[in-house]
Amino acid sequence: MEVLIIGGGFSGLAAGVALSEAGCGVRLLEQKPHLGGRARSFLDPTTGSMVDNGQHLLMGCYHATIRFLSTIGTLDRVRFQKHLALHFLDRSGRLTVLRCPNLPSPWHVLLGVLCSGSFTFREKLEILRLGGLLRRQRAMGKGSERLSVHEWLTNLGQSERLQRNLWDLLCIAALNEDPTVANAALFERVLRLALFSSPEDSRIGIPGVGLSEVYVDAATAYIRSKGGRVECGRGVAGLLVSEGQCRGVRLSTGQQIAAESVLSAVPSFALAALLPGELLRQEPFFGPVVFLRPAPIISINLWFDRAITDLDFVGLRGGTIQWLFNKGKILGLNENYVSVVLSGAHQHITRSKEELLDTALLELGDFLPEARKASLVHSLLIKERFATFSPTWETEGLRPTARTPVRGLYLAGDWTATGLPATIEGAVQSGYTAARAVLQDH
Ligand SMILES: Cc1cc2nc3c(=O)[nH]c(=O)nc-3n(C[C@H](O)[C@H](O)[C@H](O)COP(=O)(O)OP(=O)(O)OC[C@H]3O[C@@H](n4cnc5c(N)ncnc54)[C@H](O)[C@@H]3O)c2cc1C
Repeated sequence: MEVLIIGGGFSGLAAGVALSEAGCGVRLLEQKPHLGGRARSFLDPTTGSMVDNGQHLLMGCYHATIRFLSTIGTLDRVRFQKHLALHFLDRSGRLTVLRCPNLPSPWHVLLGVLCSGSFTFREKLEILRLGGLLRRQRAMGKGSERLSVHEWLTNLGQSERLQRNLWDLLCIAALNEDPTVANAALFERVLRLALFSSPEDSRIGIPGVGLSEVYVDAATAYIRSKGGRVECGRGVAGLLVSEGQCRGVRLSTGQQIAAESVLSAVPSFALAALLPGELLRQEPFFGPVVFLRPAPIISINLWFDRAITDLDFVGLRGGTIQWLFNKGKILGLNENYVSVVLSGAHQHITRSKEELLDTALLELGDFLPEARKASLVHSLLIKERFATFSPTWETEGLRPTARTPVRGLYLAGDWTATGLPATIEGAVQSGYTAARAVLQDH
């Protein structure tokens, strides 16, 4: 049996690897000339540096992703911390750290918080209280499912200051949405998985190479080694559906490819364009797909004439820019290259590149006095308008399962019903789930 996979991002490649591993024939079609989708890297023509479309972090709790990278042999390209350590900078330049020791959960977080200079005594008690509620499964009371992260945290006694200095930064990084609209239930799950499961799961992993080098070539080589095909520049224009059965795809060239099983691993808006109109209008399973709204991320890559920090990465408290990554150090380059990230960037996405660059440089000067002395050599700003879907409480009910009412059609993608925010782990899990559904049905 050959399975046709549409889309060569994390979800499509993970599905391809899982199906190949199970002895299935795979033919993967990607519309772009390159694979990687929303998680990829490319060479910056000016500096020759490898640049990601946006900094990506992994975590120890990314179990499916770790399995995927182990299968294709590239797990060592992601550098995992020994124990969770998060640095924070205040606008005044004050640096603090939350370092979690290697103790059984939840003691690793609790002791880390108690010993950290990042919080006041009262804030430490607030965090311990939330940790206790999460441990006792009491954090999501009845009716909490409709709350925003901000409302939920406020109900649980988390002060505005602590939210601004800790939870907001984590929420925006994990959910790519402002805490005043982001889904509390999803954030609670993230906290439980990432902070309160085990010290291993809490560790952060940073790719030590360009993002594409982490998985694209190795996954392609794996699929090909099992006899599968991976084809770029092959845009699918529509799904061929008749009598409740998916029978293949129509390419943008007009060519048709017949297949018994089609696994779509494209974003939600791309799937909506591929579905026959009557299915989208009349089949309640597919209709909600069009209501998933995007949330943007802006990444500003900056090359200076001197080093501005020796940290790997740091959270910027109270800034428009939220996190700074020391790319020169992370990638082992002899360059003073940093990248700053602005997630959940709805309000900023229409601002000009010049304006955004000015804001970033001005704020960097507050957080890192060294940045004021440094001269900017080069910059590259990347706006990802459709970085993720926006995870409000309504969206959980809109996310479809891998198995669809159309026989032979399966769905994967970070936006499908994974129970996770739009992340690499969600994408990889969705690919595995869809592959499993194909195998079970045959
Ligand atoms: C800037 C940025 C930062 C992020 N940071 C993090 C992070 O730190 N940690 C984390 O876990 N996640 C992060 N994410 C989210 C993560 O990148 C995504 O969740 C993940 O890459 C989604 O993978 P996917 O396979 O579901 O979709 P995609 O990567 O979008 O792949 C879909 C593929 O389908 C192709 N396609 C679409 N339509 C067609 C068609 N008609 N025919 C053929 N091919 C088609 C597309 O070209 C694309 O290659 C970030 C995302 C962005 C944009």
